[in-house]
Amino acid sequence: MDTAGNLSYLSERAQQARPVQPGTLQDGSRIAVIGAGPAGSMFSYFLLNMADTIALDIDVDIYEPRHFCHRGPAGCNHCGGIVSESLVQRLATEGIMLPEDVVQRGIESYTLHMDVGDVEIATPLNEKRIAAIYRGNGPRNSEPLDTHSFDGYLLDMAQNSGARVIHKLVTDVRRNMDGMQVTSADQHCDTYDLVVVATGVNSRLMETLEQQTQEFRRPERTKTFICEFKLGREVIRNTFGPSMHVFLLDIPRLEFAALIPKGDYVTLCLLGDDIDDELMEKFFESPEVRNCFPGGVIPAHACHCYPRINIRAAKPAYGDRLVMIGDSGTTRLFKDGIGAAYRTAKAAAKTAVFHGIMAEDFKAHYWPLCQKINNDNRVGKMVFAFATLVQKARFARRGVLRMTVNEQRQASVTPRMSGVLWDLFSGSAPYTDVFLRTLHPAYIGSLLWNLLASNMPGHAAEHDLQSESEHRHVEH
Ligand SMILES: Cc1cc2nc3c(=O)[nH]c(=O)nc-3n(C[C@H](O)[C@H](O)[C@H](O)COP(=O)(O)OP(=O)(O)OC[C@H]3O[C@@H](n4cnc5c(N)ncnc54)[C@H](O)[C@@H]3O)c2cc1C
Repeated sequence: MDTAGNLSYLSERAQQARPVQPGTLQDGSRIAVIGAGPAGSMFSYFLLNMADTIALDIDVDIYEPRHFCHRGPAGCNHCGGIVSESLVQRLATEGIMLPEDVVQRGIESYTLHMDVGDVEIATPLNEKRIAAIYRGNGPRNSEPLDTHSFDGYLLDMAQNSGARVIHKLVTDVRRNMDGMQVTSADQHCDTYDLVVVATGVNSRLMETLEQQTQEFRRPERTKTFICEFKLGREVIRNTFGPSMHVFLLDIPRLEFAALIPKGDYVTLCLLGDDIDDELMEKFFESPEVRNCFPGGVIPAHACHCYPRINIRAAKPAYGDRLVMIGDSGTTRLFKDGIGAAYRTAKAAAKTAVFHGIMAEDFKAHYWPLCQKINNDNRVGKMVFAFATLVQKARFARRGVLRMTVNEQRQASVTPRMSGVLWDLFSGSAPYTDVFLRTLHPAYIGSLLWNLLASNMPGHAAEHDLQSESEHRHVEH
């Protein structure tokens, strides 16, 4: 792997002579990684490659009951499948190039739907593209895909680096005199020097660990909704295009809703506060949603699920010979969970190889990254609270729409609102960056002006005329 990431491991190697002492990885050390989602596979890949640079010979076992080549729940890790452009670029610098057969569709724009109108927000830099991927091999009962699952691709990378995959569900993890004992559903036990929990938040194991160890509090979670509509490539090209459709609707408890085109299917994701039937009914009834589908009719979905999402980090996400990564530890609020899985996986691997595997090592070298993400999530909560205000106030929605439409029409106007919305939808930038940009006097000035202008009597009629010719903005 001839990458920038690799060079940084090498320079670290030059700086540090590894002490041979308990609490560090040694030749022959055994590591169990529980879960082969993005966090588990990337951790294994980084760990083995970093160990290789210092000639450390370790064994990595990845426990994963799923087969990502399967369609439906047996192969799927329930997710919208958006990989932000910043993550695509970061992965490339690590030598992880997403091949074309992993990307279902490149997303080139976002279309924001509100009751006051729609606007298409083009990618801020033309070369940037967002990847839409499937975590497994597609929806239940779908035709086998000629594409490759994202999780399967990452797991292959880990295996190619030397990890061994054990297709078993882990039911218990305990600390004993010899190290960490991992028990799988067939009652088989094995002992390891380090256990890495990467089970995500939809696993019973987190609950078991919390009850048994009293060491940590598992992440706080909330229920989301995902479903897949089969519409066919042709219809999708004509109705959705290479655009992800997002909704800012006045529906209580709904934080984010998106329709993501992928091959023959469109994936719907609803995120918010415990998504339930009542909320979904309101969502499907809204004209902004219906109008996205051919003939204004919402078809039956091919499959659906209610996965949980992490809304507050585990505390602490480590112990002696134990570390939680990805969703099991810390992730970004509502966005870029795969990006957070990458960052936590790499930081934990670096700690284990170059510093040690005891609680104090993870506290000093891994936990600061988790805290950084947690602090950014606090700002994210404020940003979402502000979005909720916009969601509730029609006059504010008009102002946001006018500002964005004008930015998209005139190349000479700095796309301040478009940039904020883009980064908020895609998760490409930290919430703190997004928030700071909304404090810029030019942003505030422009927003105030657009709020005034869009709510002046007679404005709506003027806008209707403009939008008819441009097919971008429809005042209902
Ligand atoms: C509705 C929704 C939409 C989302 N959309 C996006 C998106 O568009 N983009 C994005 O970046 N993120 C998105 N996310 C977040 C993203 O899915 C997660 O952040 C990401 O999958 C976390 O990766 P992970 O490896 O930590 O956990 P997971 O992906 O959950 O993987 C955990 C793995 O552990 C395995 N496992 C579980 N228990 C055990 C056990 N006991 N023994 C062995 N193996 C076990 C599972 O089978 C699974 O393979 C979304 C989440 C939800 C809920």
